[in-house]
Amino acid sequence: MIEAKQLTMTYGSTVAVKEASFKASKGEIVGLLGPNGAGKTTCMNILATQIVPTSGTATVGGYDIHEDPIEIRRLVGYLPEINPLYGDMEVVEYLQFVGEGRNLGENGLKERLDWVVENCKIKEVYRRPIGELSRGFQQRVGLAQALIHDPQVLILDEPTSGLDPLQIIEIRNLIRKLAKDKTVVFSTHIMQEASVISDRIVIISEGEIIADGTAEELQARVEVSPTTILSVKAEKEGVERALESLSRCKGFNLMKEEDGVLTYQLEASTHEGLWEELAALIRDNRWVVKELKPQELSLEDTFIAVTRASRGLTVER
Ligand code: ADP
Repeated sequence: MIEAKQLTMTYGSTVAVKEASFKASKGEIVGLLGPNGAGKTTCMNILATQIVPTSGTATVGGYDIHEDPIEIRRLVGYLPEINPLYGDMEVVEYLQFVGEGRNLGENGLKERLDWVVENCKIKEVYRRPIGELSRGFQQRVGLAQALIHDPQVLILDEPTSGLDPLQIIEIRNLIRKLAKDKTVVFSTHIMQEASVISDRIVIISEGEIIADGTAEELQARVEVSPTTILSVKAEKEGVERALESLSRCKGFNLMKEEDGVLTYQLEASTHEGLWEELAALIRDNRWVVKELKPQELSLEDTFIAVTRASRGLTVER
């Protein structure tokens, strides 16, 4: 449904996007994940035909951005990062205005108004001026304008930014619901958000696509040394001397010292080998163990590791 091919966008000496290629299929939710300034908005503006790339191209629904931008605009519903609302208009006036601009006839417009009011849950603010609404309601009205013409493709730029935690959950649920029969591309700088909403995550950093896959695939691709957490109630010097003697422990650091309990993070080449050695140490030294567990790689760790690995930097936790 969407295919970006070698998109490059430069502003003077700034390379906002560099040879970016990615795809989104029908019914798929793709999260464009990257820090601020990574090039997410630029990619979305290109796909929504708001700007023309310096080189490269993209197709949306089979139409090329250079050749058929008007066809693409018909197919796409776009919610830019800065919500395109008119504060003086009532919600209903604004949605009618956008619907008329989308060439919906009287009957079509009424039907679609009913649909967006129900699905974006904006009934209670229907007659209110947009400028008076909370940020959460304004975001829902922004989504309603993007959906008024029942587009096949939804492009949403940071749809949850500036919302409180409850509003974030509502918008995420709404996006998932809408995606059932649409293709959705949305941007975020939050890894956890990308993983809960998207079927697939495309990571962009400094204008380049550096990874593409499901959250699980991305985590599996990251090669970092497994780490183990060990909390023991014992005398520090003795514990550290013993840990130094572990042949499978590449290094350790004291994370916490509380009420005589020492918590260490141990870095090993494999969990198994280290654990056998640790079990022997614990038994021989008769340590009182409060906790012993492998440390899972968090989504944030994955993001940092993928970004660093792509830049040839050492992967650390
Ligand atoms: P993101 O959405 O990931 O925060 P953007 O696509 O907005 O990133 O920006 C990518 C880079 O391009 C940034 O360095 C930004 O400053 C630059 N940039 C974006 N738009 C313009 C513009 N109109 N003129 C000059 N530089 C721009």
